[in-house]
Amino acid sequence: MLAVGTWAAIQSGMSGSDFMDDLERPLPALAASPPVVEPPGTPRLAERVVVAIIDGLRLDVSRELPFLNELRARGAHGRARAQYPTWSRPGYVNILTGVPPAHSGVRTNHYRTVVRLDSLMDRVRAVGLRAGFASDYSPMPRLFLRQRRVPLDDVDVSAMDEGTAEAWRRAIKSDVEGDFDDPRYAPWPGGFREASRSVVAAGDSLAVLLVGAVDAAGHEYGGAEPEYKAAAFEVDAALRAAVAGLDLTRDAIIVIADHGHTDRGGHGGLETLVVDVPFIVAGAGVVPGATLDVLLMDVAPTAAALLGLPAPGHGLGRTALTALALAPADAARIAALDSARVRINTGVVDRELSGHRAALLARRAVRAALIAGAAAMAVLAAWLLRLRGGLRLDVRVIGVGAPAFFIVYYTLIGVLGERFSPSLLPDRGHIAWELLKYGAIGAGVHIAVGWLALRRRLVLAERLAAANGIAWVGLMLAMVPAGLLWAFFPAPYVEVPGPRLLIFIPAVKVAISCYTIAVALSLLLEVIVFFSRAVDPRVRVVQLERAIEKARAQADRTGKP
Ligand SMILES: [Zn+2]
Repeated sequence: MLAVGTWAAIQSGMSGSDFMDDLERPLPALAASPPVVEPPGTPRLAERVVVAIIDGLRLDVSRELPFLNELRARGAHGRARAQYPTWSRPGYVNILTGVPPAHSGVRTNHYRTVVRLDSLMDRVRAVGLRAGFASDYSPMPRLFLRQRRVPLDDVDVSAMDEGTAEAWRRAIKSDVEGDFDDPRYAPWPGGFREASRSVVAAGDSLAVLLVGAVDAAGHEYGGAEPEYKAAAFEVDAALRAAVAGLDLTRDAIIVIADHGHTDRGGHGGLETLVVDVPFIVAGAGVVPGATLDVLLMDVAPTAAALLGLPAPGHGLGRTALTALALAPADAARIAALDSARVRINTGVVDRELSGHRAALLARRAVRAALIAGAAAMAVLAAWLLRLRGGLRLDVRVIGVGAPAFFIVYYTLIGVLGERFSPSLLPDRGHIAWELLKYGAIGAGVHIAVGWLALRRRLVLAERLAAANGIAWVGLMLAMVPAGLLWAFFPAPYVEVPGPRLLIFIPAVKVAISCYTIAVALSLLLEVIVFFSRAVDPRVRVVQLERAIEKARAQADRTGKP
């Protein structure tokens, strides 16, 4: 059992820790299909567009901010809904490409490689305009690197001799450029203000400003705390200073957040406080007083329409036309182009999904049969062991000992982890580490409860056999669900698992690791008890005397011999 458990612990521990990476898809179907780009031929409504992303700003708190409220008063405003999973990098990519996390392949903040989707910056630069970027968060420009000449996929370096392949690799590596003409990074607080001001002053047609200070405060203190609100006010003032050089009679500004924050701090799930974010469009080309209710993926086409440009070509969102001062014919033209683009791109993602589902179904039957077979073997092994007295399925001991870990572990996740929502995770932390904390507590409880349940068994061989019984039932409880997940929800995840599954899948995997360690320690303890008591007769004598004493006392009380 220990051998099987150790193997399962290593396997499931590794796959639990790979879980976040399994969610990422560097080459989703959309990235492999040509972008749907057609110039709308509509007038350029704004000379320049500034897209300000305030990471982690809640809609309710945003309504108290003076500068944002000034923009609301002169422009269009409402809410945007962040799309699941509601983490930062998926949100940034959604805002700049119009592709939600489910189809962009960028599902967590662990995404590391280049985003190959058509972006707002691609559209701006395709017509010879410039795109600038300023932030207190530096990794964003690296997400949007572009190959200058050599598409990586077309070069098969493995077929070349070593020297040539090396030369190619160097060429490919060096021949990338950023999607932004002018990315500037400066640490919060003062630096961001200056970097943003200088990017805005540079006069690029598109300027993307990203500030992380509100999100940081949300994680540190919680979204309902005064420190979070203070950070929001500070960022509001910094944004006012940064865009002071804009002339809103000629230029436009969009304010958006990638996600909100729960009261205790966190995001990733589908809580209203996390999903609803402010969306403000103000300045040239904007209909004052228009109300907005859009999805995050609608921001990119809206920004493009302000500049008279086609929407990013892999996008699944639509232009927020109610906010734009367009002639009816132009609005109709953009709506028609949006529909055509969304139809084509939806076809691409639907085909990918149905192909993936068919492959899953084919594999599922085989895997389910394997799981059933393995479970049957485990039952047979337990039965044989039981015949030889090595395993005892004592209902009372097992009823107490086996479920203790699972009750503690899943209750902790459910209560402390906001009812199985990814919002329990720290922003850049790892899901497996978060779950290990709960697993360690569960393991401790398992060892203690197992000890208490077994303490009364006086015959040592029976005690060890009963301990084996707990271990066997527990391992079955841990491994059968993991096997079912392997059969029904295997990696890689073309479809993002829902918020509950997103926690449950790694939770089950981490449970095996923690449970196995608990079982190992418990059994080790029992083996030590067995040998120490068997070897030292004095302990046995004292124990047996005590037991006889107790039995006598009881017999005296009840009057029965
Ligand atoms: Zn965050």
